[in-house]
Amino acid sequence: MNDYYADLGVARDATADDIKKAYRRAARKLHPDVNPGPEAEEQFKKVSQAYDVLSDAEKRRNFDMGADPYAGAAAGFGQGFSFSDVMDAFFGQGAGQGQGQGPRSRQARGQDALVRLDLDLVDAVFGAEKELVVDTAVGCSTCHGAGTQPGTGTRTCDVCRGQGSIQQVQRSFLGQVMTSRPCVNCSATGQVIEAPCYECSGDGRVRTRRSLTIRVPAGVDTGTRIQLAGEGEVGPGAGPAGDLYVEVAVRRDKRFQRQGDDLHATLELPMTAAALGATVPFETFDGVSDLEVHPGIQSGEQILLRGLGVTHLRGSGRGDIIIHAMVQTPTRLSHEQEGLLRDLARLRDEEKPTGRIANPAEGSLFGKLRDAFKAR
Ligand SMILES: [Zn+2]
Ligand SMILES: [Zn+2]
Repeated sequence: MNDYYADLGVARDATADDIKKAYRRAARKLHPDVNPGPEAEEQFKKVSQAYDVLSDAEKRRNFDMGADPYAGAAAGFGQGFSFSDVMDAFFGQGAGQGQGQGPRSRQARGQDALVRLDLDLVDAVFGAEKELVVDTAVGCSTCHGAGTQPGTGTRTCDVCRGQGSIQQVQRSFLGQVMTSRPCVNCSATGQVIEAPCYECSGDGRVRTRRSLTIRVPAGVDTGTRIQLAGEGEVGPGAGPAGDLYVEVAVRRDKRFQRQGDDLHATLELPMTAAALGATVPFETFDGVSDLEVHPGIQSGEQILLRGLGVTHLRGSGRGDIIIHAMVQTPTRLSHEQEGLLRDLARLRDEEKPTGRIANPAEGSLFGKLRDAFKAR
């Protein structure tokens, strides 16, 4: 069991302020930059650990009740606590680890790019080849990525003397601490371009519009992303290009509503055809199909065209086309038509309809719709 109070040299009823002061006092003596050597480092870890527990009200309370967050862990840095965290907290990011990194390369990998591609439903059904115009950075052909005017070169940065970074000694309560910051004069590369390339201003790359042909696989839907490796932005100094992501957006279709890989359509049928039955030509993406409408079809009944929907993006096969019948009641009747319908109503004894309320449990229209929803 650790005794953090002893490690920090404070009383058990020490205030938060006492604890902070005690830690500063200890850290000033033990910090590795001030006091190199494994023993001091071990001590520093120990007091840092003690400080981590005692400076956190909840951890301290738990410790007082006998729970040690670092119990079992080797002396040093346990859960969620590290040496660099402490250093970052006191000196800002990068402190205590900045030395010896050396100058940075002028070259870097380019960023990924994202473009949107609008497609018609038919392209999603079968896949397509599309021309895409993209605006990305490409390598500069004048300087081939060097960033220097042809015939000129670079010289060593005199601000950082070619190191790419500037070491600073900070005076703090821990004593003197070395920190290092990237050199602004040379963008941390250690080298300064004498005469920047007139084409790319020294960046080694230029923006350009280019068109590329992309193969869209069958089955894509709005939101599908197609990755084109190495077609993104070229990096600074003509560094390796990032990837290009093409995000698909499928336009709304006038006739079909897509649900997964199935396509739903509504077929308007004249009342007479619904009653008598008919063969109706129906255009699909594969050509015209003859729909057999059986006599007595009701609004909401479905006709299935199997395998004429969208191709599955993964695996094989295609979805279906599901056609929903919608019986149309005539709204304008000529004198003669009205007479015929009245005759029909008399023959069917429907002159005084009762307007029966449909029982959902029977196979009525409402029941069929409900069953259709259940099946989904
Ligand atoms: Zn250039
Ligand atoms: Zn520099």
